Amino acid sequence: MTSRNRWVIGNWKMNGTLAANSRLLEAITAEGAGRARVAVCVPFPYLAQCQHMLKSTAIGYGGQDVSEYQSGAHTGQVSAAMLREFGATIVLVGHSERRLHNSETSKQVATKAEAALSAGLTTVICVGETLAEREAGLAESTVSAQLDPCTEAIARFTERVVIAYEPVWAIGTGKTASTVEAQSMHAFIRRKLTEINAAAGQLSILYGGSVKVANARELFAQPDVDGGLIGGASLVAEEFQGIVAAA
Ligand code: PEP
Repeated sequence: MTSRNRWVIGNWKMNGTLAANSRLLEAITAEGAGRARVAVCVPFPYLAQCQHMLKSTAIGYGGQDVSEYQSGAHTGQVSAAMLREFGATIVLVGHSERRLHNSETSKQVATKAEAALSAGLTTVICVGETLAEREAGLAESTVSAQLDPCTEAIARFTERVVIAYEPVWAIGTGKTASTVEAQSMHAFIRRKLTEINAAAGQLSILYGGSVKVANARELFAQPDVDGGLIGGASLVAEEFQGIVAAA
Protein backbone atom coordinates (compact mmCIF):
# COMPACT_ATOMS: atom_id res chain seq x y z
CA MET A 1 0.00 0.00 0.00
CA THR A 2 1.45 3.34 -1.02
CA SER A 3 1.27 6.48 1.11
CA ARG A 4 1.72 8.68 -1.95
CA ASN A 5 -0.99 11.24 -2.62
CA ARG A 6 -3.50 10.37 -5.32
CA TRP A 7 -4.52 13.23 -7.57
CA VAL A 8 -7.05 13.96 -10.27
CA ILE A 9 -6.41 17.31 -11.93
CA GLY A 10 -8.59 18.73 -14.68
CA ASN A 11 -6.95 20.84 -17.38
CA TRP A 12 -9.72 22.85 -18.99
CA LYS A 13 -7.32 24.30 -21.59
CA MET A 14 -8.95 27.25 -23.43
CA ASN A 15 -12.50 26.09 -22.85
CA GLY A 16 -15.43 27.34 -20.82
CA THR A 17 -17.93 30.13 -20.35
CA LEU A 18 -19.17 31.51 -17.05
CA ALA A 19 -22.45 29.62 -17.50
CA ALA A 20 -20.90 26.30 -18.53
CA ASN A 21 -18.25 26.50 -15.78
CA SER A 22 -20.91 27.18 -13.22
CA ARG A 23 -22.84 24.02 -14.18
CA LEU A 24 -19.64 21.95 -14.25
CA LEU A 25 -18.35 23.23 -10.89
CA GLU A 26 -21.73 22.73 -9.25
CA ALA A 27 -21.81 19.13 -10.44
CA ILE A 28 -18.28 18.24 -9.40
CA THR A 29 -18.52 19.89 -6.00
CA ALA A 30 -21.80 18.07 -5.31
CA GLU A 31 -19.90 14.80 -5.72
CA GLY A 32 -16.83 15.87 -3.69
CA ALA A 33 -13.24 14.73 -3.90
CA GLY A 34 -13.40 11.32 -2.20
CA ARG A 35 -9.95 10.11 -1.20
CA ALA A 36 -8.08 11.72 -4.05
CA ARG A 37 -6.85 15.29 -4.14
CA VAL A 38 -8.86 17.02 -6.84
CA ALA A 39 -8.21 20.31 -8.62
CA VAL A 40 -9.06 22.11 -11.83
CA CYS A 41 -6.62 24.24 -13.83
CA VAL A 42 -8.65 26.89 -15.60
CA PRO A 43 -8.16 29.84 -17.97
CA PHE A 44 -6.98 32.87 -15.96
CA PRO A 45 -10.22 34.91 -16.30
CA TYR A 46 -12.14 32.13 -14.55
CA LEU A 47 -10.00 32.10 -11.39
CA ALA A 48 -12.39 34.55 -9.70
CA GLN A 49 -15.33 32.30 -10.51
CA CYS A 50 -13.48 29.31 -9.04
CA GLN A 51 -12.59 31.36 -5.98
CA HIS A 52 -16.25 32.13 -5.51
CA MET A 53 -17.58 28.63 -6.18
CA LEU A 54 -14.84 26.42 -4.71
CA LYS A 55 -13.70 28.35 -1.65
CA SER A 56 -15.35 26.14 0.94
CA THR A 57 -15.03 22.85 -0.95
CA ALA A 58 -12.38 20.13 -1.09
CA ILE A 59 -11.64 20.98 -4.73
CA GLY A 60 -8.61 23.12 -5.47
CA TYR A 61 -8.03 25.28 -8.51
CA GLY A 62 -5.27 27.08 -10.29
CA GLY A 63 -3.69 28.11 -13.58
CA GLN A 64 -2.39 26.27 -16.62
CA ASP A 65 0.81 28.31 -16.81
CA VAL A 66 2.69 30.92 -14.82
CA SER A 67 5.28 33.54 -15.59
CA GLU A 68 8.87 32.94 -14.58
CA TYR A 69 8.98 36.63 -13.58
CA GLN A 70 7.57 38.28 -10.50
CA SER A 71 6.28 41.49 -12.12
CA GLY A 72 7.15 44.09 -14.74
CA ALA A 73 7.16 44.49 -18.49
CA HIS A 74 5.90 41.03 -19.49
CA THR A 75 2.76 41.73 -21.47
CA GLY A 76 0.24 38.92 -21.36
CA GLN A 77 1.89 37.03 -18.52
CA VAL A 78 0.50 36.20 -15.08
CA SER A 79 2.69 35.86 -12.00
CA ALA A 80 2.54 33.23 -9.27
CA ALA A 81 1.64 35.94 -6.73
CA MET A 82 -1.34 36.95 -8.90
CA LEU A 83 -2.56 33.35 -8.94
CA ARG A 84 -2.22 33.24 -5.17
CA GLU A 85 -4.24 36.45 -4.83
CA PHE A 86 -7.17 34.61 -6.40
CA GLY A 87 -6.81 31.72 -3.97
CA ALA A 88 -5.13 29.38 -6.45
CA THR A 89 -3.14 26.57 -4.86
CA ILE A 90 -1.89 24.78 -7.95
CA VAL A 91 -0.43 25.43 -11.40
CA LEU A 92 0.74 23.45 -14.42
CA VAL A 93 4.12 24.13 -15.98
CA GLY A 94 5.59 22.69 -19.15
CA HIS A 95 2.38 21.35 -20.67
CA SER A 96 3.29 19.96 -24.10
CA GLU A 97 0.98 22.45 -25.82
CA ARG A 98 3.03 25.27 -24.32
CA ARG A 99 6.32 23.57 -25.17
CA LEU A 100 5.08 23.09 -28.73
CA HIS A 101 3.02 26.21 -29.51
CA ASN A 102 4.85 28.68 -27.28
CA SER A 103 8.35 27.28 -27.78
CA GLU A 104 8.92 26.83 -24.07
CA THR A 105 12.25 25.19 -23.34
CA SER A 106 12.84 22.79 -20.46
CA LYS A 107 15.09 25.39 -18.87
CA GLN A 108 12.28 27.95 -18.98
CA VAL A 109 9.86 25.37 -17.57
CA ALA A 110 12.27 24.85 -14.67
CA THR A 111 12.41 28.61 -14.04
CA LYS A 112 8.62 28.74 -14.04
CA ALA A 113 8.48 25.79 -11.63
CA GLU A 114 10.92 27.58 -9.34
CA ALA A 115 8.79 30.78 -9.40
CA ALA A 116 5.57 28.88 -8.69
CA LEU A 117 7.08 26.73 -5.95
CA SER A 118 8.72 29.71 -4.26
CA ALA A 119 5.30 31.38 -4.16
CA GLY A 120 3.83 28.36 -2.37
CA LEU A 121 1.92 26.80 -5.27
CA THR A 122 1.68 23.06 -5.80
CA THR A 123 3.39 22.77 -9.15
CA VAL A 124 2.65 20.09 -11.70
CA ILE A 125 5.68 19.63 -13.94
CA CYS A 126 4.50 18.11 -17.23
CA VAL A 127 6.81 15.95 -19.34
CA GLY A 128 6.32 13.61 -22.27
CA GLU A 129 7.73 12.49 -25.59
CA THR A 130 6.37 12.89 -29.12
CA LEU A 131 5.47 9.90 -31.26
CA ALA A 132 8.63 10.41 -33.36
CA GLU A 133 10.75 10.38 -30.21
CA ARG A 134 9.07 7.20 -28.96
CA GLU A 135 9.47 5.47 -32.32
CA ALA A 136 13.14 6.44 -32.38
CA GLY A 137 13.63 4.81 -28.97
CA LEU A 138 14.12 8.21 -27.34
CA ALA A 139 11.13 8.31 -24.99
CA GLU A 140 13.11 7.92 -21.76
CA SER A 141 15.99 10.17 -22.77
CA THR A 142 13.51 12.89 -23.82
CA VAL A 143 11.64 12.77 -20.51
CA SER A 144 14.92 12.63 -18.63
CA ALA A 145 16.21 15.75 -20.40
CA GLN A 146 12.93 17.56 -19.66
CA LEU A 147 13.25 16.76 -15.95
CA ASP A 148 16.95 17.51 -15.58
CA PRO A 149 16.72 21.32 -15.34
CA CYS A 150 14.01 20.92 -12.64
CA THR A 151 16.21 18.83 -10.33
CA GLU A 152 17.15 21.70 -8.05
CA ALA A 153 13.57 22.96 -7.68
CA ILE A 154 12.35 19.40 -7.02
CA ALA A 155 15.00 18.93 -4.32
CA ARG A 156 14.23 22.27 -2.67
CA PHE A 157 10.44 22.15 -2.75
CA THR A 158 9.74 18.41 -2.88
CA GLU A 159 6.53 18.50 -0.86
CA ARG A 160 4.79 20.77 -3.38
CA VAL A 161 5.90 19.05 -6.59
CA VAL A 162 3.74 16.75 -8.70
CA ILE A 163 4.97 15.21 -11.96
CA ALA A 164 2.64 14.54 -14.90
CA TYR A 165 3.76 12.15 -17.61
CA GLU A 166 1.81 12.98 -20.73
CA PRO A 167 2.96 11.30 -23.94
CA VAL A 168 2.31 13.98 -26.58
CA TRP A 169 0.89 11.40 -28.99
CA ALA A 170 -1.85 10.54 -26.47
CA ILE A 171 -3.04 14.06 -25.68
CA GLY A 172 -6.43 14.87 -27.15
CA THR A 173 -6.02 12.08 -29.72
CA GLY A 174 -8.14 9.38 -28.12
CA LYS A 175 -4.98 7.21 -28.04
CA THR A 176 -3.90 6.17 -24.57
CA ALA A 177 -0.57 4.70 -23.59
CA SER A 178 -1.03 1.04 -22.71
CA THR A 179 -0.85 0.28 -19.02
CA VAL A 180 2.53 -1.35 -19.70
CA GLU A 181 3.86 1.75 -21.50
CA ALA A 182 2.52 4.08 -18.79
CA GLN A 183 3.84 1.99 -15.89
CA SER A 184 7.22 1.55 -17.52
CA MET A 185 7.72 5.30 -17.99
CA HIS A 186 6.37 6.09 -14.51
CA ALA A 187 8.82 3.61 -12.99
CA PHE A 188 11.62 5.20 -14.99
CA ILE A 189 10.63 8.67 -13.74
CA ARG A 190 10.43 7.40 -10.16
CA ARG A 191 13.93 5.89 -10.38
CA LYS A 192 15.19 9.21 -11.68
CA LEU A 193 13.46 11.14 -8.89
CA THR A 194 14.89 8.73 -6.31
CA GLU A 195 18.35 9.70 -7.52
CA ILE A 196 17.56 13.27 -6.35
CA ASN A 197 16.64 12.01 -2.88
CA ALA A 198 14.34 9.49 -1.18
CA ALA A 199 11.52 12.00 -0.64
CA ALA A 200 11.51 12.95 -4.33
CA GLY A 201 11.15 9.25 -5.11
CA GLN A 202 7.80 9.36 -3.30
CA LEU A 203 6.34 12.18 -5.40
CA SER A 204 2.99 11.66 -7.07
CA ILE A 205 3.42 10.88 -10.76
CA LEU A 206 0.22 11.37 -12.75
CA TYR A 207 -0.58 9.99 -16.17
CA GLY A 208 -2.20 12.23 -18.79
CA GLY A 209 -3.39 11.52 -22.30
CA SER A 210 -6.97 10.64 -23.22
CA VAL A 211 -7.87 9.39 -19.73
CA LYS A 212 -11.58 8.67 -19.42
CA VAL A 213 -13.82 6.65 -17.12
CA ALA A 214 -13.37 3.65 -19.40
CA ASN A 215 -9.57 3.43 -18.90
CA ALA A 216 -8.93 5.30 -15.62
CA ARG A 217 -9.26 2.39 -13.23
CA GLU A 218 -6.78 0.21 -15.12
CA LEU A 219 -4.24 3.02 -15.49
CA PHE A 220 -4.52 4.09 -11.85
CA ALA A 221 -4.06 0.49 -10.71
CA GLN A 222 -0.45 0.53 -11.97
CA PRO A 223 2.00 0.65 -9.06
CA ASP A 224 3.68 3.90 -10.10
CA VAL A 225 0.61 5.75 -11.45
CA ASP A 226 -0.76 8.05 -8.76
CA GLY A 227 -3.72 9.53 -10.62
CA GLY A 228 -4.30 11.59 -13.72
CA LEU A 229 -4.09 14.92 -15.46
CA ILE A 230 -7.31 15.06 -17.43
CA GLY A 231 -7.97 17.26 -20.46
CA GLY A 232 -11.12 16.69 -22.54
CA ALA A 233 -12.86 14.47 -19.99
CA SER A 234 -12.51 17.14 -17.28
CA LEU A 235 -15.10 19.23 -19.14
CA VAL A 236 -17.81 16.60 -18.75
CA ALA A 237 -19.05 16.36 -15.16
CA GLU A 238 -19.95 12.65 -15.18
CA GLU A 239 -16.64 11.70 -16.81
CA PHE A 240 -14.61 13.77 -14.36
CA GLN A 241 -16.55 12.40 -11.39
CA GLY A 242 -16.09 8.85 -12.65
CA ILE A 243 -12.32 9.41 -12.97
CA VAL A 244 -12.19 10.88 -9.45
CA ALA A 245 -14.03 7.80 -8.18
CA ALA A 246 -11.51 5.55 -9.99
CA ALA A 247 -8.64 7.30 -8.20
C1 PEP B 1 -3.95 17.34 -21.26
O1 PEP B 1 -4.05 18.24 -22.06
O2 PEP B 1 -3.28 17.53 -20.23
C2 PEP B 1 -4.61 16.06 -21.54
C3 PEP B 1 -4.25 15.01 -20.87
O3 PEP B 1 -5.60 16.08 -22.49
P1 PEP B 1 -6.59 14.87 -22.90
O4 PEP B 1 -7.03 14.21 -21.61
O5 PEP B 1 -7.71 15.53 -23.61
O6 PEP B 1 -5.81 13.94 -23.75
